[in-house]
Amino acid sequence: MQVNEREILNCFYHPDRPAVGLCKHCQRGLCSDCAALVGDSLACKGRHEEQVHALEEMTRLNILKSKRTRSDYLRNTIFYGTVGLLFTAFGVSQIQWLGVQGIVYAVIGLALLYAALANYLESRKYK
Ligand SMILES: [Zn+2]
Ligand SMILES: [Zn+2]
Repeated sequence: MQVNEREILNCFYHPDRPAVGLCKHCQRGLCSDCAALVGDSLACKGRHEEQVHALEEMTRLNILKSKRTRSDYLRNTIFYGTVGLLFTAFGVSQIQWLGVQGIVYAVIGLALLYAALANYLESRKYK
């Protein structure tokens, strides 16, 4: 991969200094003097610490919200499993009539069955 070294690897505020990371808010390169650590991310010191803190807070809330319960996973398993079986059966039975389109249906069905399996395995982590 080609990178523009001047832009990506040097500090935005000190073009002659190498950057240690990027500000999460403005994506500018920061040297060790300009970088402030906010949570797990870097911010422009004295400029974007507030903004990055807000971003960190949002990410944290999203993680908490996306926590699912066992019954959510089981419901997904049943949903994906049923729809997946229908798609797969329909696709396979139609391959001789629809050709490629039948294969597409079958592949979608298999992907859904895979999602069902993933949800089922996830649900087993909850007792
Ligand atoms: Zn910044
Ligand atoms: Zn700097």
